[in-house]
Amino acid sequence: MSGSKQKAIVPAKEGRAFHVKKGQHFRITTPHGGQGSDFFAYNAHSVAEWLSPMHTWHLTRSLRPRAGDVFLTRFRRPIVRFVEDGADGIHDMLLSACDQFRYELIGVTGPHASCSDNLMTAMRREGYEISTIPQPVNFFCNTNVRQDGTLEAPGNNVKAGAYVVLESLIDTICIVSSCPFDVVVDDWEINRDSRPTELEVEVI
Ligand SMILES: [Zn+2]
Repeated sequence: MSGSKQKAIVPAKEGRAFHVKKGQHFRITTPHGGQGSDFFAYNAHSVAEWLSPMHTWHLTRSLRPRAGDVFLTRFRRPIVRFVEDGADGIHDMLLSACDQFRYELIGVTGPHASCSDNLMTAMRREGYEISTIPQPVNFFCNTNVRQDGTLEAPGNNVKAGAYVVLESLIDTICIVSSCPFDVVVDDWEINRDSRPTELEVEVI
């Protein structure tokens, strides 16, 4: 996907890359609600530079992305602005992208789709072989830090049609992955009812 005025469906459990020019806005939507969206962004002119939540925390002083925040790259330069939050603040940027190792740790015995593989495939389709999986921003994920520092992921209560609007501050390649997490784990729900659904991405 490239150019302006684009709208695309990211099928359930899959990932897609799209190009966003400096100054362009784009919207990510969970049409059915409750679907985690792993989000990655690279400098389109140098994919060694990517969005990094850990570097962003220093600037925003928040473990959770909020409307108005600017995400930084690992070189601490602005890359994407969080313009509008249509998901009531239910987002995460603590959890790593899911991968084959994680699914095996929780008992999956065969190959399983993952956000890490979705990212690698999407970047291959752009002509890049990547060897590092950056920390994603997990939009529409209801994970929380309790007062004592422990983590919880109660039911995903993100409403149908919830969205975020972002603005690229440089030319970017962005990747959206419909998190394929479909394993039922006690007290740890990533996608509502552990049933992944599609996402919608629109460059506006
Ligand atoms: Zn995932």
